[in-house]
Amino acid sequence: MKVLNLQCAHGHGFEGWFASNGDFETQLAGGLVSCPLCGDTAITKLLTAPRLNLGNAKPPAEPAPVPAVVQSDSPEGRWMRAVREVMAKTEDVGDRFAAEARKMHYGEAEERGIRGQATREEAKDLIDEGISVFSLPLPPALKETLQ
Ligand SMILES: [Zn+2]
Repeated sequence: MKVLNLQCAHGHGFEGWFASNGDFETQLAGGLVSCPLCGDTAITKLLTAPRLNLGNAKPPAEPAPVPAVVQSDSPEGRWMRAVREVMAKTEDVGDRFAAEARKMHYGEAEERGIRGQATREEAKDLIDEGISVFSLPLPPALKETLQ
């Protein structure tokens, strides 16, 4: 399984999980890779080393917790707003993530945005079944509300 650091044209960074690099290229060419924050399909692969974030990993060396309200148009401010938007639009299914994602994929549950935790094994199984899995590195301020 490949965990790739991706970024959309709006600068939203996220991680995409794919069966292989070839799998990523195929999905990218088919317009199937879209930013989980804004839906943009102009995705580029970043060259930084892949990092697995299952919802409990710490972002690298944040100098201070991100303020709850960021009103400037700094990258952090845009990122916070986008993440908050995604959180508002998605349902937190916790550790049922893999089961819910599968149900939606097979039409047993309504298609909707979900977030939650998945083990690496679960994520791999989902990818093998052709289900897209993305991981968002969350700012520490938002992480607390997730746990
Ligand atoms: Zn985006």
